[in-house]
Amino acid sequence: MRKIIITGARQNNLKNVSLKIPKNKITVFTGVSGSGKSSLVFETIGAEAQRQINETQNSFVRNRLNHLGIADVDKIEHLNVPVIINQKRLGGNVRSTVGTATDVSASLRLLFSRMGEPFVGYSNVFSFNNPQGMCAVCEGLGYTNTIDIQTLFDKSKSLNEGAILFPTFQPGGYRWLRYANSGYFDNDKKLKDFSEEEWELLLHAEEHKPKNPAKNWGKTMQYIGVLPRIEKDLLKKDSKENKLRKKNLQKIIVSSLCPSCQGKRLNEKVLSCKIKGKDIADCSALSIDELLSFVQSLSAKKYETILYELRNKLENIITIGLQYLTLDRATITLSGGESQRIKMVKHLGNSLEDLLYIFDEPSIGLHPKDLDNISLIIREIKEKGNTVLIVEHDPDLIKIGDYIVDMGPLSGSKGGEVVYEGSFAGLKKSKHKTGTYFSLKRTHKLKSRIANHFIEIKNANLFNLKNISVAIPKNIFTVVTGVAGSGKSTLISKVLPMQIPDVKIIDQSAIIASSRGNLLTNLGISDDIRNLFAKANNVSNRLFSRNSDGACPNCKGLGFEKIDLAFMEEVQTPCEVCDGSGFNPEVLKYKYQDKNIAEVLNLTVEGAQRFFKQHSFLKHFDSLTALGLDYLTLGQRLDSFSGGERQRLKLTKELNNINSIIVLDEPSTGLHPSDTEKLMSILNKLVDKGNTLIVIEHNLDIIAQADWIIDIGPGAGKFGGELLFKGSVPELLENTVSVTGEYLRKHLG
Ligand code: ADP
Ligand code: ADP
Ligand code: ZN
Ligand code: ZN
Repeated sequence: MRKIIITGARQNNLKNVSLKIPKNKITVFTGVSGSGKSSLVFETIGAEAQRQINETQNSFVRNRLNHLGIADVDKIEHLNVPVIINQKRLGGNVRSTVGTATDVSASLRLLFSRMGEPFVGYSNVFSFNNPQGMCAVCEGLGYTNTIDIQTLFDKSKSLNEGAILFPTFQPGGYRWLRYANSGYFDNDKKLKDFSEEEWELLLHAEEHKPKNPAKNWGKTMQYIGVLPRIEKDLLKKDSKENKLRKKNLQKIIVSSLCPSCQGKRLNEKVLSCKIKGKDIADCSALSIDELLSFVQSLSAKKYETILYELRNKLENIITIGLQYLTLDRATITLSGGESQRIKMVKHLGNSLEDLLYIFDEPSIGLHPKDLDNISLIIREIKEKGNTVLIVEHDPDLIKIGDYIVDMGPLSGSKGGEVVYEGSFAGLKKSKHKTGTYFSLKRTHKLKSRIANHFIEIKNANLFNLKNISVAIPKNIFTVVTGVAGSGKSTLISKVLPMQIPDVKIIDQSAIIASSRGNLLTNLGISDDIRNLFAKANNVSNRLFSRNSDGACPNCKGLGFEKIDLAFMEEVQTPCEVCDGSGFNPEVLKYKYQDKNIAEVLNLTVEGAQRFFKQHSFLKHFDSLTALGLDYLTLGQRLDSFSGGERQRLKLTKELNNINSIIVLDEPSTGLHPSDTEKLMSILNKLVDKGNTLIVIEHNLDIIAQADWIIDIGPGAGKFGGELLFKGSVPELLENTVSVTGEYLRKHLG
């Protein structure tokens, strides 16, 4: 059977969707935000495939996984084993690097264990995660944390005046007593007047019994200097206080290059092993393309298999456009798009067939030029005999679909249907939003706003920037372009705020909130809604809070329980007492109009606008609607928002700015082309109010509407970092140096 057959899918807003997806083809799912793409692809197909795999687990695991939410679908036939490649950032572990995540480090270690001189051991000793290989001083981290004496002590004060600037060391604190009662110091003497000996005692003294302590000094009590005390009690990760005092610790700690290994993370013995004069850390610090040249320069018949595999892996990384990264780069510093591509590399290397690959918006963070490479890779994955599903908005990636499934017609309750399925050629004839977009003629801005004043960035040289000076026009709409890794974010999101501190950066990063934060709390209107319920029922408003009197007694208001499956990722299952609402079932008998609080939290923004009619808090919902977020539900947890949704939510709060410098990093993320138009009209309004708008973007429709373009390039990493072009869109279209200009010409046809 060459098709995956889905019958009766009703997850979230899906309207009993039935669908056949061709195998060994690329199927692209399109449609406006909230139309149901993720509900179908991830929450139905992906989830069901995962569940069926779980069925093959032993009964212990199976019993626990059975509580997992099961997709609301009648049946799915002929599923394959799924591989889901999303933008979830790669592990937050400092020990995870580009090398470990792609497995290249494993091949490199193998190479060193065979070809390296002198021979020091098997490949595992070349790992900084291995006790035999790691630098003993920094335990393989490459840096050490030391206490910054300048910020820990105020030398103009005495102990009695609180010279030690850390909780518990302050006058009266239990640690302070150890110093004040030690008998060593005049507690009224300012630290700057301490003798060298006193200073040494205060700072560094090893554990010992003091000679003449105060009377109340306990018999078994020891004295120890402030620095070793903090190291012992607070710096160790597993100490209880470490977490508790994280903020205070951050203030007094400076990380510096490990003095022993100079950041190479490995011990001397391992670093003495070299190939052509380079140790393994030197190799890991080369950019991927430099490393490939190095590996190509090695020739040894005996080791050809290892060399071949290594070259192959490196070439794959270059194909996906990440040649500028180094193996030792920590994965936590990669962007979402880079993380996604790193995940793809692993799969390019394997020879498994008949898998179901599911990609979530692989175009994110990519210049149209980078997209050509990604398209090649996705095709290659298909050619190997796999089935590929992609959720995507980018016109150029939609085109690579052998089969297109368009969801709609609109979002939320007005979506959830398949409005078109078939070839790309046929899509253009569809009268729905996606089809209409492709049949329209694209235009660019003819009359740009003119800038009279500029913000000057001088001599920027962070990361790959080549000492560039860039003038950014004030009060108009500037788009910063360039291939991925060329230095756009470094210039705009890192250097600019260092030179002009009051820049407002609206990015896709997590919204800092408790795990219980949801849309309403973020908008600051939970209380308004609780008060409506309290008034209507004549009870306390605290009853309508999951963090207070209304919490379900079983899950304490979370709505789910966590299950720890030692050897797998932690899973969450809906709470059986409250059915996932998080509310004490008693609370749900109170209604406002005809709905209880859980039902109100389940309303979409659009539904809430109809339900509440006249209330002052409705203005917040209007901003959400303007940015195409009216399909979100009121109680939706912030940690379930996608990057693009988070960014738009942050943007709704900035719409009343009048004289600010606002930076947006790829605001088109997750937007259907028809939503991009809405976004553009909001951005234009912001500029008309006098704001300076700087947007990092790859989306050609947005680039075409800019007043001013700043193009960074030409390549990525060390091949980028230069200012390639600055000027208006018509000027860019004339420019022959910038690839952005080239792709824009093609796009406008
Ligand atoms: P798309 O992927 O096309 O942007 P989604 O599948 O994410 O759309 O969402 C479709 C609809 O389902 C939206 O109205 C959305 O608010 C709703 N929805 C998504 N996730 C949930 C959820 N966990 N609970 C309730 N409704 C949800
Ligand atoms: P863009 O925004 O154009 O995609 P970036 O500004 O993110 O590019 O990256 C430019 C260069 O700086 C790349 O070579 C990237 O690997 C490097 N870089 C970015 N962040 C860091 C970091 N935290 N540490 C080291 N290098 C970095
Ligand atoms: Zn070290
Ligand atoms: Zn509960």
